[in-house]
Amino acid sequence: NKAKNVFQFVEVGRKDPVKKDLHARTQQFVEIYQPYTQREVAGQADRCLECGNPYCEWKCPVHNYIPNWLKLVSEGNIIEAAELSHQTNSLPEVCGRVCPQDRLCEGACTLNDEFGAVTIGNVEKYITDTALALGWKPNLDNVQKTDRKVAIIGAGPAGLACADVLVRNGVTPVVFDRYPEIGGLLTFGIPEFKLEKSVMQKRRALFEEMGVEFCLNTEIGRDVSMDDLLRDYDAVFMGMGTYKYMKGGFPGEDLAGVYDALPFLVSNVNRNMGWEKDADEFISVRGKRVVVLGGGDTAMDCNRTSVRQGARSVTCAYRRDEENMPGSRREVTNAREEGVNFLFNRQPVAIVGDGKVEGVKVVTTELGEPDERGRRRPQPVPGSEEIIPADVVLVAFGFQASPAEWFVQHGIDTNEWGGVVAEEEQQYRFQTSNPKVFAGGDMVRGSDLVVTAIWEGRQAAEGILDYLDL
Ligand code: FAD
Ligand code: SF4
Repeated sequence: NKAKNVFQFVEVGRKDPVKKDLHARTQQFVEIYQPYTQREVAGQADRCLECGNPYCEWKCPVHNYIPNWLKLVSEGNIIEAAELSHQTNSLPEVCGRVCPQDRLCEGACTLNDEFGAVTIGNVEKYITDTALALGWKPNLDNVQKTDRKVAIIGAGPAGLACADVLVRNGVTPVVFDRYPEIGGLLTFGIPEFKLEKSVMQKRRALFEEMGVEFCLNTEIGRDVSMDDLLRDYDAVFMGMGTYKYMKGGFPGEDLAGVYDALPFLVSNVNRNMGWEKDADEFISVRGKRVVVLGGGDTAMDCNRTSVRQGARSVTCAYRRDEENMPGSRREVTNAREEGVNFLFNRQPVAIVGDGKVEGVKVVTTELGEPDERGRRRPQPVPGSEEIIPADVVLVAFGFQASPAEWFVQHGIDTNEWGGVVAEEEQQYRFQTSNPKVFAGGDMVRGSDLVVTAIWEGRQAAEGILDYLDL
């Protein structure tokens, strides 16, 4: 073990991995960051102060052992770091890429304000990417197999995390998904410039080798019934996400040229991956003036996908200011660099056009008192209406719960906004009102983050293990 340089954080500044050339970046659907070299990653990891009370670890929703794996990386022990990283996180290479670290681990790093936080996310991504390239695989040799089987509905991060913990405890998880590939929104939502599809394809191979079974192109409630699952399995976990698009509730939302964000993003993924069933599904914005409505991660992904498709212009209108945007700061910076024009404090009141979109009518807003989530409410300024010209409008206002009709029949309670009721603080973590059914991720907490879905999937697996008395 080499001696720790206690002044590393002063001598070596925070350095994010180099981004690809801007021209290449805006033409291609590939990740924009170059990988760290071994030397760079060791230098960055060594900046960690090893605080007695690691705030980063508390702020990370899965409570990764961050200082411990940073130390292993600084010493060059990548395989040990990968083993440790997988003790708390089922998809560390994904979180390293897509977590809003500025609001989570890195935002809590002691070095954050004065010296620049340790680049925790990029080190986390490096660990698994490098370990896999070196041939590392999770080792399940010591796992005692049981004859228990759990059905998992949804191959998104919540379902995959639940499967990961179950299989490591000798239970066979069988994961059902209506889509042809695993990943949920990681595959059919988040674009390649944040997360290349090969990342999930490698994970699928790993999971299969670990003993996770996948039944894809299978919708529960249509191709297979919940009755079948409840009869054939010892427990069921639901990680089905939220898929009802929020609407603005203003005139013109049904004009030709107005699209919900997710169909636009998914059609783009399907085209890029050769998964398109029908060429008419593809939504092209090439040569068009695009206006994106919203300020979250989905809006940023629409902005940057439009740039790459060759839109004539891309304008993002958001009703609060930049400070109060829900999306990751990093992605706003990336979007701006790639040529997206931001209009802050603009609230859409109508989409205008004669049969098809011609523009978006917006009013300027001022921020008033904070709402129940602490975000300041936008108040329209009278007489401030203007029209932003547009050929295409992409609506990215977020998602609402989309409870299945069969929940009622199976005694699965939902709350006032349609979310499935399943809580951590009870005898069996994330158990629903049907004792054999557990749930987690966006369908329980509302649209949130990959890492929170992973946490709930992992915790629900612990709840299932307790319920099965294993
Ligand atoms: P999902 O990922 O939605 O997975 C649910 C799965 O269940 C899907 O595969 C679906 O097909 C399947 N399913 C549903 N019903 C059935 C059924 N009846 N039968 C079979 N299968 C079914 N989070 C971040 O942390 N960082 C980001 O940068 C980020 N960017 C995002 C960008 C976009 C465009 C979107 C939409 C979301 C983004 N998020 C991001 C949020 C994140 O993707 C979600 O919070 C996370 O994927 C939720 O995981 P989940 O497993 O609960 O659900
Ligand atoms: Fe940070 Fe997310 Fe990794 Fe936790 S999982 S250490 S929050 S990047």
